Amino acid sequence: MNHDLEELTTHCIRCGFCLESCPTFVQTGNEMESPRGRIYLVRSAIGGKLNWQEDVKPHLDLCLGCRACETACPSAVQYGMILEIARDKIEKEKPQRAKDALLAGTTNPTILKTQLALGRLLPGKRVPGLISHLLSGHAAEADRPTPQQEAHFPFLDDKDLPAIKGEVYLLEGCAMKVLYPRVHQVTRRLLRRVGFVVKDVSQGCCGALHAHYGNLTEARKLGERLIKSMPDNLPVIVNSAGCGSTIKEYGHLMDGQSSAEAFAKRTFDVSEFLLANGLIEALQSAKGLNQTATYHDACHLAHGQKIVSQPRELISAIPNLKLVPLNEADMCCGSAGIYNVTQPEMARKLLERKYDNIAQTGASIVATGNPGCHSWIAQAAREHGKKIQVLHTLELLEAAFVGLELFEEKPI
Ligand code: SF4
Ligand code: SF4
Repeated sequence: MNHDLEELTTHCIRCGFCLESCPTFVQTGNEMESPRGRIYLVRSAIGGKLNWQEDVKPHLDLCLGCRACETACPSAVQYGMILEIARDKIEKEKPQRAKDALLAGTTNPTILKTQLALGRLLPGKRVPGLISHLLSGHAAEADRPTPQQEAHFPFLDDKDLPAIKGEVYLLEGCAMKVLYPRVHQVTRRLLRRVGFVVKDVSQGCCGALHAHYGNLTEARKLGERLIKSMPDNLPVIVNSAGCGSTIKEYGHLMDGQSSAEAFAKRTFDVSEFLLANGLIEALQSAKGLNQTATYHDACHLAHGQKIVSQPRELISAIPNLKLVPLNEADMCCGSAGIYNVTQPEMARKLLERKYDNIAQTGASIVATGNPGCHSWIAQAAREHGKKIQVLHTLELLEAAFVGLELFEEKPI
């Protein structure tokens, strides 16, 4: 990313409109934990008045990268880009081996699967505390993830479906593929319900977590590999908000490379693609669900991709389902990639705040469009007695056709 970090920070006019949208500022009331404060710190370090490691890094570490500040900012400050470039600079100056290990372990499906298998042999249900301690000095709060079971869905008969209009690629991702295979199953089913089939290719991680956590070189490498793996000019469908947001910004990540720009343009979050291609009409003949649901905006969908209305429109079209609004729906739940491991205390506060808001809606289901939010909010639901079922938006939509029973979480 060849953007001039100093130039990016000059767009901040210090108006403070972003402060109340920033979860870490709302929790701490500390200017240095706000977008305006962090931009000031970065500017001061560029000017040599502050030290990157001691003065700036702790405040950037506590930032969720949720980009709610971008949505609130009247000056269109590209805070996400400032954060990624500044973190990359800090990381290059003094690499953090524990964080690199955590990123590698999360984004390589083979390592992740092995870790999960070995993890089941350890006592306790939390992620091993060592990594959390090394990175934050605090014990882990996140449960060791349990991979979702694939579901045995009823056969989709072509004679009941629209004619095939075309092929698409589906980003299978890294952690998503291991932890949420059922979400990929339902993505394929919903795409078929609107006339699209998936062209399968061998593919890998998109680089999103590396980009968000200060390793732009690796993010670029992974991005270039992904682009090569999907060469035809087909739409690329993404069902993970964090991945979609990064891919749509590949142009920036790869300094305006035309292949990256073109790839970004043909990438769609699955909710925008399904809405544009007739899922609302298909839902009219679905069985429907006699349920009350609410919707949590994943940050990289709402703030990174500005996709807010599309999932709600789709959910609202489910026959017999009542969609109720969620207070602070677009405030980060604290999951934020690996944040709930690197910053367990703040992540926990934000999770409890999110769960309280969800519980107040009276809904029996909460839907969201990102694997990190999914597993983190599901953990809170389990801890609070599991009265609320957490589903990916697509699982809720497919449940409208096949019933909710197939989406029960298996006991751990
Ligand atoms: S809203 Fe934008 S311009 Fe105003 S202080 Fe925040 S980042 Fe700066
Ligand atoms: S990205 Fe989120 S946590 Fe970070 S400064 Fe912006 S609003 Fe605050």
